[in-house]
Amino acid sequence: MSDADVDAAGGSEETDVDAVVIGAGFSGLYMLHKLREQGLDVRVYEKGDEVGGTWYWNTYPGARCDSESHIYCFSFDEGLHREWEWSERYPEQPEILDYLQWVADRLDLHRDIAFEREVTSATYDDETATWTVELADGERVRTRYFVTAVGCLSEPFLPDFDGLGDFEGEWYHTARWPDEEIDFGDDHVGVIGTGSTGIQFISEVGGRADHLTVFQRTPNYAVPARNRPLEDDEYEEIRENYDDIWARARDSRLGMPFDHEHETDYGLSEEEIREVLEERWQQGGFRFLHSFEPGSILSNPELNDVVSAFIREKIRERVDDPETAETLVPTDHPYGAKRPPMDYDDYYGTYNRDDVSLVDVDENPIERVTADGIRTTAAHYDLDMLVFATGFDAMTGAILAMDIEGKNGQTLDEKWEAGPRTYLGLMTHGFPNLFTITGPQSPSVLTNMPLSIEQHVEWIADCIAYMDEHGYDRIEATEDAEDQWVQNTNMLAENMLFSEADSWYRGANVPGKTQVFTPFPGGLDNYREICARVARDDYDGFELGRASGTADEAVSEPGD
Ligand code: NAP
Repeated sequence: MSDADVDAAGGSEETDVDAVVIGAGFSGLYMLHKLREQGLDVRVYEKGDEVGGTWYWNTYPGARCDSESHIYCFSFDEGLHREWEWSERYPEQPEILDYLQWVADRLDLHRDIAFEREVTSATYDDETATWTVELADGERVRTRYFVTAVGCLSEPFLPDFDGLGDFEGEWYHTARWPDEEIDFGDDHVGVIGTGSTGIQFISEVGGRADHLTVFQRTPNYAVPARNRPLEDDEYEEIRENYDDIWARARDSRLGMPFDHEHETDYGLSEEEIREVLEERWQQGGFRFLHSFEPGSILSNPELNDVVSAFIREKIRERVDDPETAETLVPTDHPYGAKRPPMDYDDYYGTYNRDDVSLVDVDENPIERVTADGIRTTAAHYDLDMLVFATGFDAMTGAILAMDIEGKNGQTLDEKWEAGPRTYLGLMTHGFPNLFTITGPQSPSVLTNMPLSIEQHVEWIADCIAYMDEHGYDRIEATEDAEDQWVQNTNMLAENMLFSEADSWYRGANVPGKTQVFTPFPGGLDNYREICARVARDDYDGFELGRASGTADEAVSEPGD
């Protein structure tokens, strides 16, 4: 569909393609496949040297996914989900990476992915309704559609600790874990962070290092995952019911097919609520957060109080030393206001070991890193190795790491200065033809990611097909539609308990970042319906038209 403008020497000064996609994780792989099927010439750029996205970068010990494996995969191709067989209830990082590489091979995707290529900037030209994308090595590519598939948790956040440069041992961020095997054996290892990542790392490495010291600022509510191998007959049953499983998952708030999606807590006594909680505690995983009808634990403070108290008791029961137990018990935020982590390997029991100790850096903050350890306001800890499980500049970090310039010279950085603004999490006013897969203000991180990704990719692919069919060059979210969507997202979040925690959902983990709740909390089921209606109504809330440089630059108002 497009010309490739490659100079005689083979170096491409400027190459025209139909679509540039950034990232080769779940999103980028499916976007490439979909657009290629529609006959578009697509180029994917990927910073890493293989496909995998999150699962390529997060190779730290203990890395595993909290969504159950049989639904943490693509549903769009029956062949794929019927042929692949997961080995455990929750997939471990290497298995997910194998899966994505297998998918990429099966769909012959590698040939359109340029690896170890970093996109540094992208500039929109309204005359031609095209984007010019520039790479770190200076290559420039002109494209009609510019699609970010960079993930929501991709830009690692490393706190600006004084003295890190002086540290004489090895140090790592969990999201940039080295390829070679790390031997913790004789080392005194310090780990900073007790989010989902830290909890997995601590459970896995506690007992493997000579000593592990955990620096905890905020305790968390870890719920048992109840991981186990998937038995053959169980897998057979999943295969037989896959159509129903996917249908229920798509029609659910979380993108997960839980049986108790519609059970309410109304009229139940505290004792009865606790009985339900105990049952779900035994089932494990996200089934616990959704013990009652969608969202109620996250929006009903009285119910949440019972749930939070229930988990606190469980923590106290598991930790031998009462003082350590109290340090591990969260009291500053309600359960679920931060992304709830899972406990795969007796996280709390790890603190009963003699070779694991806990330091409360909320009470005594880290002052600096020294040549041989960490100094808090209370003491110095001698350490040979530091591990930062300190999370990500979430939701916007990886998008804004590129210099993106839209209409009239406005940059995305400027546009999002007071927090990201999108319509449906898919597009931003002032940035025509730029699609953001699982962008801010879409359900993304509050759901089972592959299903959310599939819905976005399919919506974008359908939208591009519609544009081609109707002879449009450009699509842009209207300012009104965007304002309403941002307002709607904020209002939904305000009616829930999210504001009661300093979480990465709100950008509160990165000093100086504008704090605003970023994912859409209205549920994947509702969101899917909204997006489908928008498309049915000829892309209501978007302006479609020709490039401004064309003679008949007619612009259609929504519904025209
Ligand atoms: P995170 O949830 O943001 O946790 C970062 C941790 O580092 C927190 O405990 C934080 O403490 C601590 N921290 C940050 N700066 C600090 C400082 N200056 N001093 C002391 N402590 C500091 O990051 P994450 O654990 O990498 O998880 C991010 C998200 O990735 C998860 O919520 C989840 O969505 C996803 N994830 C998923 C899985 C899975 O599916 N199994 C696994 C890992 C991650 P505060 O809480 O006090 O800020």
